[in-house]
Amino acid sequence: MTYTKLKIGDTIGIIGGGQLGKMMAQSAQTRGFKVAVLDPDDTCPARYVSHYFIHAPYNDADALRQLGEQSDVITYEFENISGEELGKITSQFNVPQGADTVVTLQNRLAEKNALQSAGAAVVPFVSVTNQDELKTSADTLGFPFMLKTTFGGYDGKGQIVIESEADFKEADELLAARPCVAEKRINLKSEISITATASPDGSVVFFPVQENEHRNQILYKTTVTGEHTHHDQAISEVKKIMQAIYFVGTFTVEFFIDQDDILYVNEIAPRPHNSGHYSIEACDYSQFDTHILAVAGWQLPETIELLKPAVMYNLLGQDLDVMEDEFPDQSWHVHVYGKAVRKENRKMGHVTILDLNNDYETIYKERM
Ligand code: ADP
Ligand code: MG
Repeated sequence: MTYTKLKIGDTIGIIGGGQLGKMMAQSAQTRGFKVAVLDPDDTCPARYVSHYFIHAPYNDADALRQLGEQSDVITYEFENISGEELGKITSQFNVPQGADTVVTLQNRLAEKNALQSAGAAVVPFVSVTNQDELKTSADTLGFPFMLKTTFGGYDGKGQIVIESEADFKEADELLAARPCVAEKRINLKSEISITATASPDGSVVFFPVQENEHRNQILYKTTVTGEHTHHDQAISEVKKIMQAIYFVGTFTVEFFIDQDDILYVNEIAPRPHNSGHYSIEACDYSQFDTHILAVAGWQLPETIELLKPAVMYNLLGQDLDVMEDEFPDQSWHVHVYGKAVRKENRKMGHVTILDLNNDYETIYKERM
């Protein structure tokens, strides 16, 4: 894959203007780059921190070409872009991440097949397109198992738990929409993730292990201490995956750990990830900084240093309501993304806590 080293003042084009695009843009501007953003929502968070804004659907061929003409490099914060359209701009413009990786990872079945052929420890899975195959998958996996749509799921949307045959009927809606993947349900002890950044020159940096707690399948809390018993094993899984899948920029591998301490790879996000947000304050480089350095063809730092152990909580619509009235602690680092519409369970911001000596958890739970 070819790439160009950007000059100060050059423009980074971002497909998608949500919170990830906003934080990428802020990091790009710190280094003197200009930013162009394409998003279908003209009130999206990144719009107001960018030099140029293109108001269009993600897959609009003309708009993508316009973004290409305006930018010296194109990256994305949103992975469900049409592979065909991304392929077209990849052949015309500087897109160091290419199109193949995002196309593989946006389809849960293709992703799992790629992980399996990389020799990664994936949760046993089978492809399911109809009720007959659903019955067979119960024989193969045993109850309970998860049924997940192959395309477009996020924050637990597009997935259901199948506890017994009585739940088969519930699968109709998911199966009618798209092919699905059935996957053994893991008796979770914990969930972790590793964020890494790869540069087009082949160098890689890893962020520390992130321990993730979900509520309603939405990330609730990330804890990073700099130490974890599964650190070495998780890094070796990421390295295996990198032998099989081409990465440029920041990406995150999510893992499950079961009650017997067995580690499984869950999924990969080919972009900065919610569980890496703490790095803005807690590390010497954030996951957005390293992403921008990589796509700009600039040198990555040799290592990432965790300056302080950190805890990050997501602020959903309902949390923002509370926080606005009474802010729990002035030492906490608050990020509010600036989304126009505040909704229950919508990610509106996050808070990073570095001062873990105080009983932050009690304070957080009492107030929020
Ligand atoms: P997404 O993040 O795209 O919504 P995930 O597959 O990561 O989808 O699922 C979201 C969350 O649901 C996981 O982080 C985990 O808490 C839970 N979950 C998903 N799959 C399983 C599984 N096979 N076993 C146990 N828990 C699961
Ligand atoms: Mg996930």
